[in-house]
Amino acid sequence: MSTSTEVPALPPHAPSLPLQGPPRSGLRLRAEDLRRSYGCGRDAVHALRGVDVVFAEASFTAVMGPSGSGKSTLLQCVAGMDRPTSGTVHWGPTEINGLSERRLAQLRRSDAGFVFQSYNLMPAMTVEQNVALPARLAGERVDRTAVAQALSQVGLGGRGKERPGRLSGGQQQRVAVARALYARPRVLFADEPTGALDRETGLRVLRLLRAGVEQEGRTCVMVTHDPVAASFADRVVFLSDGVLVEDLVRPCAASIARQLGGAAC
Ligand code: ADP
Repeated sequence: MSTSTEVPALPPHAPSLPLQGPPRSGLRLRAEDLRRSYGCGRDAVHALRGVDVVFAEASFTAVMGPSGSGKSTLLQCVAGMDRPTSGTVHWGPTEINGLSERRLAQLRRSDAGFVFQSYNLMPAMTVEQNVALPARLAGERVDRTAVAQALSQVGLGGRGKERPGRLSGGQQQRVAVARALYARPRVLFADEPTGALDRETGLRVLRLLRAGVEQEGRTCVMVTHDPVAASFADRVVFLSDGVLVEDLVRPCAASIARQLGGAAC
């Protein structure tokens, strides 16, 4: 994705999303006094130093800040993939920190979708099987039409029978996006989802994320360093050295770039 501050034109019609089961409402996410340290004593790294943040149901939030400011750590703690050192995370009424690993994994599978920098695709499975994997793990019937629809929405129609290893990095990232969207999660966590994509494909993915929020009420939290990507969000929160330092509502790429002040992110 380009880091230019040009504001992208939104499509006249938002793309329609895959239909796998009935729509489900988004989830309100809340982190309170979230702290995460690595190591101990004088060598300890304090990645999060007391973050309080709410991600409203049916909202799209971008998390920005310099490298090492704690963005990925925040996302992983809120997504229930990492346990904070202290503080709490709620998904709706459920405090996820108190859950067993098994229950937390179940909750992640049933309610959340993930798109990370490392695509985490299974090399021995076909693209289609990768897209359907979370649903299969959750014990759901696989809807092949919806899988094909999810793939064509990310521009990979007709590639379902291939193995991920035959695809470029950007195409693998799109498979990861299709996999996350297929199950119609209530909440979507994305860490640099457009980092490996060319501009057009990146915009296409961002429109899909945006459409999920508008059409299905999904809650979307995305880490990005790109002001154009962040301008698709309703709100941008900025982290610096493990604390939230700014909260921009209805941002445009130019205001985001101003806030970043040219700092390398
Ligand atoms: P960002 O996503 O903003 O680049 P991170 O959340 O990845 O920042 O990291 C925040 C801080 O925590 C950094 O100083 C990083 O080196 C440190 N950190 C992250 N993960 C680990 C880890 N597993 N072990 C030790 N330090 C870590």
